[in-house]
Amino acid sequence: MPPDYLLTKLAGEEDINALQSAELIIAKKQLANLDEEKIQRADELSIANVELAFQNEEKEKRADELIIANKELAFQIEEKAKRADELIIANKELAFQNEEKEKRAAELMIANKELAFQNDEKEKRANELVLANKELIFQNNEKEKRADELVIANQELAFQNTEREKRAAELFIANKELAYQNTEKGKRADELAIANKELAFQNEEKEKRAIELAGANKELAFQNEEKEQFVYIVSHDLQEPLRTITNYAGLFNKRYSGKLDNEANRFLESITGAAGRMRTLIKDLLDYSVIQKDTAKAEIDCNLVLEEVMNDMSVSISESKTHISAENLPVVKGYLTGFRSLFQNLISNAIKYRKADTESVIRISAVSNEKEWLFSFSDNGIGIDKAFYDKLFIIFQRLHNKNEYSGTGIGLAQCKKIVDLHDGRIWVESVIDEGSTFHFTISKM
Ligand code: ADP
Repeated sequence: MPPDYLLTKLAGEEDINALQSAELIIAKKQLANLDEEKIQRADELSIANVELAFQNEEKEKRADELIIANKELAFQIEEKAKRADELIIANKELAFQNEEKEKRAAELMIANKELAFQNDEKEKRANELVLANKELIFQNNEKEKRADELVIANQELAFQNTEREKRAAELFIANKELAYQNTEKGKRADELAIANKELAFQNEEKEKRAIELAGANKELAFQNEEKEQFVYIVSHDLQEPLRTITNYAGLFNKRYSGKLDNEANRFLESITGAAGRMRTLIKDLLDYSVIQKDTAKAEIDCNLVLEEVMNDMSVSISESKTHISAENLPVVKGYLTGFRSLFQNLISNAIKYRKADTESVIRISAVSNEKEWLFSFSDNGIGIDKAFYDKLFIIFQRLHNKNEYSGTGIGLAQCKKIVDLHDGRIWVESVIDEGSTFHFTISKM
């Protein structure tokens, strides 16, 4: 059936019928479509029902499973409750045990403290015992030492007693001796008193003699001066005739050389030799007589003096292969010319009187004391017999003849004169075949 508004229209308007029938057709079609949709919807619903039925089935299954699961859960909860009860009991048990343990630990701590305290006490005791042992050992040692000392002291005492007894016996004898000596001393004192008187008399005599000697010395000094002047004048004046003899001997030798027979030649040689020796003698005499105090003493560096003398003697030193050594010679106050001759004489003698088969060595040294310098000239030469020690320093005294060693016997006398000028002494020490040492002192005053 068409709706009311369409029927009204059909009644009101005639030409609208066709349109209404078209609309009817469309409506019918729409209705048919609606039916179709309803069917589709019914199909879908039945499918949905089937689906729902399936889901319901599933839900029931699930509900069954849930029931089983619930039962299971209930069972588990029960079990858990039981377990919880057991755990509570176990916890209580544990708590009880812990309490017990704590009590035990507290007891143990107290016991430990007790033990530690006892240990400390024991250690203290042990230390005290060690100290006590040491003390004991020390006391024992001391006792042993003391015992030893006592033994020694006893021995000493015994020894002293014996000694005292001996000493008492000796003293007794000594007393007797003393008494005797006192008597003797009394006698001796009397004798000494007499001797003293005698000595006083002798001293007086000696003083008189000393005064006489001083006078004689002055006289001697004066005479010596006179003699030296005489020696000087004679040796000086002898030079002239000697020069004439030497010159003529030379001239004679030149002019008649080859014309003389052997004997004449020997005579001429003797004259020339003797003239030569005489020249040396006169020169030495002149040197000796002119030794005297320079105007003033000077500072003399002995190292320089030695250097100069060695320079002057360089030929004889090198020919004889002599080795000269000196240790730190001093600077002294003295007469320079004299010092040079002193060094030269001693060194030239050491070279002259060297041993033929030995390299000659001369050692020069000097030491000092408060008052003087002591010089020593040592050589390793032929040496000197002790019997001649004093003679050497006297003028013209020689131990060898001119054929063995040339010389005039003036050198050492010259040395003595120079040393005397320096308020010193000169002497010799020697060993035959080993060498000689000439010592001299130089006063520092
Ligand atoms: P000269 O050497 O001219 O003979 P000296 O007065 O110098 O005179 O010496 C005297 C003597 O002392 C010498 O003849 C010699 O016999 C001895 N004499 C001196 N110096 C030495 C010495 N160094 N070694 C051995 N004898 C010496």
